[in-house]
Amino acid sequence: MLEKKCTWIASQAICRRMSSQSYDVVAAPLANGQPEAVFAARGLTKVYHMGEVDVHALRGVDLDLYAGEFVVLLGPSGSGKSTLLNILGGLDVPTSGTVYYRGAELTEFDDGALTRYRREHVGFVFQFYNLIPSLTARENVALVTDIAARPMNPREALAMVELVERQDHFPAQLSGGEQQRVAIARAVAKNPSVLLCDEPTGALDVHTGILVLEAISRINRELSTTTAVITHNAVIADMSDRVISISDGKIVHVHRNTKKRPASELSW
Ligand code: ADP
Ligand code: MG
Repeated sequence: MLEKKCTWIASQAICRRMSSQSYDVVAAPLANGQPEAVFAARGLTKVYHMGEVDVHALRGVDLDLYAGEFVVLLGPSGSGKSTLLNILGGLDVPTSGTVYYRGAELTEFDDGALTRYRREHVGFVFQFYNLIPSLTARENVALVTDIAARPMNPREALAMVELVERQDHFPAQLSGGEQQRVAIARAVAKNPSVLLCDEPTGALDVHTGILVLEAISRINRELSTTTAVITHNAVIADMSDRVISISDGKIVHVHRNTKKRPASELSW
């Protein structure tokens, strides 16, 4: 059954259409020139029940992420960063609160709609690359392009991370940084509108970490993919448009970065 409804959110008119088979979201152009809110999260909480103990991972998070921006989510270990990103990416659901993705209420999606949302709209990059060891770099990327609605050519995706010449190599023949760049190519090959990266340089040394950050920033710049990068490394915040600081399950500070630095200039 096709349901159609219009929602007024983040000062923009958005038409939402959903069916049991597919959904698409059409955002009306903004009359006032404000950037489009890709995500609008309100009052998010997440409580994990661990036997007798309740762990409050998120304690009331309000957050907007805008189209095309590069955001760093900065905070110490255990502050709730991954929980927040996983909820935005449809990998987890909040205990309470709402998330709108381009006007569609993610927090109302059933499992099937969440799967389609992840598959068609979200690219994930994690600290560990999760490549399939028996497939080459190109085959690892092709796994995703085979099931995506509007995929890039795997070679084109590997070109974005400057790895075309290594496309026939297996993961074991690539360095950690190169494997992460394959994982980034895999994440962007389906042409997602958002790229969510959870500690993408966490397992890398500075030099290879910077190459990985350069690849992420190039994708953000050239494909206008709305990008959120989780880190506990404050230096990485310097390359973002906006830094959102999280502590103890809450957003404690939002900083617009007016002196954005290229990844190549960073060092830690
Ligand atoms: P961060 O990514 O900032 O390190 P997380 O979002 O992973 O923080 O975790 C926030 C809090 O929630 C931590 O106390 C963590 O132990 C807890 N937590 C996260 N995931 C789970 C889970 N699946 N089950 C129980 N507790 C969890
Ligand atoms: Mg984490």
